[in-house]
Amino acid sequence: MPDASTDPKTASQSRPLAGKAALVTGSTSGIGLGIARALAQAGCAVALNARKAGPDTDKLTNDLAAETGVKVVYAAADMSKPAEIKACVAETIKVLGRLDILVNNAGIQHVEPIETFPDDKYEMVIATNLSSAFYTTKAALPGMKQRKFGRIINISSAHGLIGSPFKSAYVAAKHGMVGLTKVTALETAELGITCNAICPGYVWTPLVQKQIPDQAKAHHLSEEEVIKQVLLKEQPNKKFATVEQLGALAVFLCSDAGGSITGTSIPVDGGWTAH
Ligand code: NAD
Repeated sequence: MPDASTDPKTASQSRPLAGKAALVTGSTSGIGLGIARALAQAGCAVALNARKAGPDTDKLTNDLAAETGVKVVYAAADMSKPAEIKACVAETIKVLGRLDILVNNAGIQHVEPIETFPDDKYEMVIATNLSSAFYTTKAALPGMKQRKFGRIINISSAHGLIGSPFKSAYVAAKHGMVGLTKVTALETAELGITCNAICPGYVWTPLVQKQIPDQAKAHHLSEEEVIKQVLLKEQPNKKFATVEQLGALAVFLCSDAGGSITGTSIPVDGGWTAH
């Protein structure tokens, strides 16, 4: 029986993305970090990204490299700014030598009725959550086409498939991402490149955790009641998805097994959009 540590078949099963390089936008916390970690564990070199660099991002980068044994770098860029996005993709390609996998994850939220929704907040949500994915994709495609391999994953949302009141900019951006995913998939279908959207319902991340005390105050409920009666009200399985589940899905879509899946929007929402 071959030694598992030296058997090439076993090694390629445990590190299916060895030799590949990825950029995950907005990846210093939550879903982005969970996906970056899963890609690195699968053997992929990873560029992390958020707006600013500092001691925290240095530590995160070094810790993830030590934990997974792959090259991990940090590419600071504000994903609402096209010039910074172009520079970020160029820097990633320069430092990692290639860019095979692009995960468009950076996103923000603002909740307010349309009539009072501030114009600047609307523009910022659209720029960060939607336009950023256009600019990263535009910059990443030439190299992917040249190597005839690419995987683009757009982190949309259940709100890319259905609407909710008071989230006009977010719902518009996430629906837009589903459309961008289809067009990217159609333009690249014969070139070894796939593009898919992942549409999570509620996922247990800092973005969600931070809302709980405020929601409890607003609804005069306990934090536990907020989780059950407000956040998970529409999620039939009454469970948050985890960043590890999303990371495993991303690894699958990037693997050979995911090679014929393109142009799709995959809900990870405990049945929410089955209503
Ligand atoms: P999070 O706040 O933990 O992570 C968001 C990340 O985006 C952070 O790393 C932040 O630094 C980064 N970011 C924000 N603005 C940026 C900018 N201008 N430039 C660069 N980076 C920026 O949130 P999360 O819950 O992990 O969300 C990640 C993505 O998943 C978002 O697109 C969000 O819309 C989507 N999503 C989240 C949930 C959920 O329940 N948590 C559900 C559906 C979709």
